[in-house]
Amino acid sequence: MTNLIIATTLAEARNAEGEFLAGGTDLMDRRRHHVSTGGMVDICRIAGLGEIEAHAGGYRIGSQVTLDAVAQHPAIIDHYPGLAIAAGALATPQIRSMASMGGVLLQTTRCWYFRHEAFTCYKKGGDSCPSREGDHRFGVVFDTSPCVFPHPSTIGMVLMNYAAQVEINGERTMTMQELYGGGTDGTREHTLAPSDVLTQIILPAAVNAERAGYFRSISRARAEWALVEVSARLVVDDNDQITFARVAVGGVAPVPMLLPTVNDYLVGKPATDESFAVAAELATAGANPLPQTGYKVKLIYGTVFDTLQRAYNRIWSGEG
Ligand SMILES: Cc1cc2nc3c(=O)[nH]c(=O)nc-3n(C[C@H](O)[C@H](O)[C@H](O)COP(=O)(O)OP(=O)(O)OC[C@H]3O[C@@H](n4cnc5c(N)ncnc54)[C@H](O)[C@@H]3O)c2cc1C
Ligand code: SF4
Repeated sequence: MTNLIIATTLAEARNAEGEFLAGGTDLMDRRRHHVSTGGMVDICRIAGLGEIEAHAGGYRIGSQVTLDAVAQHPAIIDHYPGLAIAAGALATPQIRSMASMGGVLLQTTRCWYFRHEAFTCYKKGGDSCPSREGDHRFGVVFDTSPCVFPHPSTIGMVLMNYAAQVEINGERTMTMQELYGGGTDGTREHTLAPSDVLTQIILPAAVNAERAGYFRSISRARAEWALVEVSARLVVDDNDQITFARVAVGGVAPVPMLLPTVNDYLVGKPATDESFAVAAELATAGANPLPQTGYKVKLIYGTVFDTLQRAYNRIWSGEG
């Protein structure tokens, strides 16, 4: 029999035995495949986690807010356009109406070895990675961890590019980099303890006149995680010179990657295809692909280039 506890306060959730259940779009899939078998603690009824509100010059988003609500929220669309585009582009409308912001950040790897009950691996407490020796066609291009599957969270990548923070247990905050760690621990996707509840996402003050893009290379039209995905934020002056640039990439490393070298290159350059091409080339620097992931290096180039063009031209779509 399934042991499901309904928590109505943070304290109840933290003291209960089991894995937190929010929208359930990741967790219930793992249960169907007998990969998650313990108790569950429903955290959807905890008060105060379902709002988007102005906060300390920026905004904060409760961890139970759905992706759909983020994608449709006027203030997010106006002030953090790259987040709104990405939240409205991933998965399907049905998933986006259920999936929570906490769940999208803390979802589990999509690795098919991990999600098959017959296999064990580093992320299941084992001492090997069957994907490294086997099929890793969707694996990393920056091979920094014993686990070769990329981090799954689109929104984690975008929030990192917005220098967002997360609040844990209503008590402390951490950066997105602290949430995900340095990309060398192959045993987990994030650094939270099992009893930690991610309560809020905190966005810093918006950047004036920002143009943003989110774009993905994907193996089918939709309803699939990206092979490579990019968030780009630009500010361009009256002479079409770039005065602010932030670019991040997902689907290629054990944690989402910020690209400071690309940002440094772009600032002061004209917003032209020539500049975007050099930036896209710089984004591939240091790639050490696996035997089956060399194709993703070209995808990084193409996806960064396309996303920069889309940001500059304010193209409001994240689907390829
Ligand atoms: C067809 C399909 C395509 C998809 N494509 C993408 C994609 O392109 N990009 C992408 O990023 N995602 C994608 N997803 C994944 C989807 O975004 C996640 O399944 C969803 O966001 C998880 O949110 P949830 O509320 O349903 O989480 P749940 O399934 O309820 O939980 C997920 C995990 O997070 C933990 N958790 C949830 N909330 C909290 C909290 N507040 N504090 C602590 N722990 C918590 C849970 O214990 C669980 O381990 C896709 C899913 C599907 C089905
Ligand atoms: S260690 Fe990572 S890549 Fe290897 S099988 Fe497990 S989840 Fe997949």
